[in-house]
Amino acid sequence: MATSNEFTVGAFQGFIDQRKLVGSRCGQCGALFVPPRALCHKCQGTQMNLEELSGRGTLAGFTSISIVPSAMAQEGYGRDKPYLTGVVALAEGPHIAARLADMDASKPQEVKIGTSLQAAFQDTEHEGQRRVVLTFGPAAQRKSRR
Ligand SMILES: [Zn+2]
Repeated sequence: MATSNEFTVGAFQGFIDQRKLVGSRCGQCGALFVPPRALCHKCQGTQMNLEELSGRGTLAGFTSISIVPSAMAQEGYGRDKPYLTGVVALAEGPHIAARLADMDASKPQEVKIGTSLQAAFQDTEHEGQRRVVLTFGPAAQRKSRR
């Protein structure tokens, strides 16, 4: 009973509210899906297990958006303040679409495919309701810095 509820978009957002990025891994063939799925697309298996992910990945593609949906306009984005959304190749394999943070959306030519990214969770407010948004930002040369 509890299992199928864990594999909905609402549940995925619930984990993000807890600042966790999760996927579901197939108990039969090992395929991993993000957001979690209740059914394996590779082998049709139903033994799916939730797995918390590292949040590491690389930038696979992106778009700078200046004609923004109303929810983003409420956050102050628009023609004069575009934002970036991208596709991230997660270290664990799956790709996920997410907002990009800490990159200059007004200079998309400086954003490089293949940039190492790290998930971050950003607090936002929508019509008075607090929400946590999954974002990805540069992995901040933490390892290479001396
Ligand atoms: Zn499978």
